[in-house]
Amino acid sequence: MLIDNVWRAGRGNATRVIHNPANDEVIGTVALANATDLDSAVACAVSGFEVWRRTPAIERTRIMLGAADLLTQRADAIANVLTLEQGKPLAESRAEIAVSADIIRWAANEAQRIYGRIVPPRAAGVQQMVHKEPVGPVAAFTPWNFPIAQVARKVAPALASGCSLILKAAEETPASAAELVRAFVDAGLPAGVLSLVFGEPSEISQHLISHRAIRKITFTGSTPVGKQLAALAGTHMKRVTMELGGHAPVIVAADADVSKAARTLADAKFRNAGQICLSPTRMMVEQTVFDEFMETFVARIREIRVGDGRLEGSTMGPLANERRLKAMERLTDDAVSRGAVLTTGGTRIGASGNFFAPTVLTEPPKDSLVLNTEPFGPVAAVWRFADLDEAIAEANRLDYGLSAYAFTRTIRTANRLAHEVQAGTLWINQAAAAWPELPFGGVKDSGYGYEGGPESLEAYLQTKTVAISDV
Ligand code: NAD
Repeated sequence: MLIDNVWRAGRGNATRVIHNPANDEVIGTVALANATDLDSAVACAVSGFEVWRRTPAIERTRIMLGAADLLTQRADAIANVLTLEQGKPLAESRAEIAVSADIIRWAANEAQRIYGRIVPPRAAGVQQMVHKEPVGPVAAFTPWNFPIAQVARKVAPALASGCSLILKAAEETPASAAELVRAFVDAGLPAGVLSLVFGEPSEISQHLISHRAIRKITFTGSTPVGKQLAALAGTHMKRVTMELGGHAPVIVAADADVSKAARTLADAKFRNAGQICLSPTRMMVEQTVFDEFMETFVARIREIRVGDGRLEGSTMGPLANERRLKAMERLTDDAVSRGAVLTTGGTRIGASGNFFAPTVLTEPPKDSLVLNTEPFGPVAAVWRFADLDEAIAEANRLDYGLSAYAFTRTIRTANRLAHEVQAGTLWINQAAAAWPELPFGGVKDSGYGYEGGPESLEAYLQTKTVAISDV
């Protein structure tokens, strides 16, 4: 863990063993924090906040850009660490690091565009100003699927806004998060501004969220955990950003470029072995083009080469942990037992490592688990629809509302979907591209608040109105 810019063990000397998901080998241990460690981290976040909020924006930008440059310079070494502990192919790890540097650079520059405003007064001699100020020390909780990018999406806008943070990154992938934090420390971030801890997640969140000094909570993870943390934050009147699960509907209309849709979706669905909150997961294809779609979709999926992410040629790695492997088996067995056709995949590969074959379930009934809970793994569900009303109703049926996808060449259909699909982001004729300049967030049970775009800084700012009368 890092507290006060010092890398150290936990006060209780507790540790957890880390496994390589590709072969189950032990690759290291991570230090776990106890309450004393957390109190030290909070004390540092308070003193760090006093330093950082007074640091001019241009200096914050300079340090952050330095961290992004270090991340870029160290990309190859960090990619190895990321793949070793998370499993994704090296090419995806490198891409994640490049995206993270991009996120940091965008937020770093945006730090200089945090503007207040002057409001015309109702009387002479009065000046009315609206200031934007950092909300205070932040507690951030990040998951294991993008152990660097998910951290960058919180740390970058928080630092750009002038906040200090205590980051609890995922225990399964600690070294990747540590490398990101190290880049900031090496770039000159003052002590106390950013701390990194690991531990028992529920104990850490309980301790930090209820701590008086922490003013903002940001979490990325599952909807059930997000609801618990939001409830706890509500009890203590803390502001929150919740980036939670999704179960993205896809509508492929008959007038789409069907071959492009099938290839785009096959690639997007199995990236990071499907462990992405915006992954396309519920695919509806208009019945007249269903067979054409399936032919290209399945052929493309059969080209995926599953293997250790460190090996040249692997295009899909293992699942990040054994829980996901068991979840994939459960989803597949349930759908098949209810009448779905197992078009490809459906089984674990090998006896060691968490490898699961890219899987397509065709025509699962609506009450199948796979159509109701977020798969978060390499399982795609596909079925046919007859008209757009039916497809829109199905897209909006669940409580999730993170991402949605559509493929159509008709502007009328695109416009209708833009207005009627309940999602934080709708990607039309393309895979998801959550660039740093675009706000990304969920509606309904997928959470609230945005990461990306100016909204990501706004999440760490509060508004203060100052009115001065000179009489
Ligand atoms: P999980 O709900 O047990 O944990 C998800 C994340 O939350 C982990 O990083 C975990 O350490 C953390 N967490 C769990 N309980 C916590 C608590 N009480 N306080 C603070 N943090 C806590 O699920 P999991 O098995 O690790 O992951 C599977 C599910 O998580 C998926 O189904 C998916 O919905 C969700 N997930 C979503 C994202 C995302 O990008 N939105 C990322 C990873 C996982």
